[in-house]
Amino acid sequence: MKLRKEYHPDVNLNLNVRGLPRSATLVINEHSKALIGEGRRVFKLGLGQSPFPVPETVVEELKKNAHQKDYLPVTGLAELREAVAEYHRSREGVAYNGEDVLIGPGSKELMFLMQLVYYGDLVIPTPSWVSYAPQANIIGRHIRWLPTYAVNGWRLTPDEIEKLCLQDPERPRLIILNYPNNPSGGTYRLEELKALAQIARRYRVILLSDEIYGELHHKGQHVSIARFYPEGTIISSGLSKWCGAGGWRLGTFTFPHSLKWLLDAMAVVASETYTATSAPIQFAAVTAFNGGAEIENYLIHSRRVLRALGKHVYQKLSEAGVWLQEPKGGFYLFPDFTPFREKLKARGITSSEELCNSLLVDTGVAILPGTVFGRKPEELTARIAYVDFNGSEALKLSSQMSTSKNYSVESLSTCCSNLLDATERLCDWLHT
Ligand code: GLU
Repeated sequence: MKLRKEYHPDVNLNLNVRGLPRSATLVINEHSKALIGEGRRVFKLGLGQSPFPVPETVVEELKKNAHQKDYLPVTGLAELREAVAEYHRSREGVAYNGEDVLIGPGSKELMFLMQLVYYGDLVIPTPSWVSYAPQANIIGRHIRWLPTYAVNGWRLTPDEIEKLCLQDPERPRLIILNYPNNPSGGTYRLEELKALAQIARRYRVILLSDEIYGELHHKGQHVSIARFYPEGTIISSGLSKWCGAGGWRLGTFTFPHSLKWLLDAMAVVASETYTATSAPIQFAAVTAFNGGAEIENYLIHSRRVLRALGKHVYQKLSEAGVWLQEPKGGFYLFPDFTPFREKLKARGITSSEELCNSLLVDTGVAILPGTVFGRKPEELTARIAYVDFNGSEALKLSSQMSTSKNYSVESLSTCCSNLLDATERLCDWLHT
């Protein structure tokens, strides 16, 4: 049946939303599940979801607080805001207090609010996480992409920021920095953070530092750039990655006092949209941010597992001839299949999207194409989220081994056969 004109999406949809697909991370997850439902074997390396269970103490706290039914303040539970402030204060030595923290239903939502209320340009490195640019597009913000290069570990350089700022030094800008990085798995050294901070300060650029993978720095050495540019940095964090609680939807933004006006403006929009973040989840999050021996232990083993698995996939793919970097944090790799360009072309594959589609059809390995991270379609890059393994089992195995040992992937093989199989299938597929 043909829709009458006044009901047709081409007429009635907001122009910024018309034609936009759903977010790539969610689409690949749904697609993988649908294929599994059809009886296919699928290796889920698409959605970046932590495979580790939420720490037991945090789960217990959630159970205890299931009865919390009242709306909480729009900015968040005071006790949680204080716990988050203390978390960053003790790590970075910046004098945050609870008033500087905004709690939201996921840092993704907070980023959207931020872009909605902030007037300036959004500056994002390429490659970067799939949702930064679509959020800006939905709101109608002007986006500027900053290039990064594989030879430099896909890291943003002060020179690129300066080049952009010199074009119009007074223009207000918000740069999103994300490390440990999604999709590259890379991070910054202290000297690099200091240099980035210096240039951001020179042009009074606001930095939104997405540090959601901070606790998953494989050596536990994450440092926030807020340490070097406290007055212009907003730290974004949450429970989704290091606490294994993506589905709980809890994100945090920590502001310097000088940017309190942004927090206030975001709270206005939040108060007219989602009202407040889920109460029981906030009570449980206090325990997560307060930390303690059990959580520290959980993190030590999470990092060790991720480091061993990341190294394994990296080594296998490098041996197979793929260009990529060994991850330093989080659970992503960003391979470049350019060395296989001619071979793939002979099979009708000339773009990252075609590559991922064929790989999924031929082998069941689901990964995401470089295009959704802001790369050119013909560049043969893709993101592997190396998360298809049994996180509970991996933590158990790791905790049975001395933490002083750097163990090999063999000790984990019983809990990560999917990931090992997927890696092998990918390498074989490239060489057939
Ligand atoms: N951040 C995760 C990813 O990049 C998943 C969550 C999301 O995109 O909303 O895969």
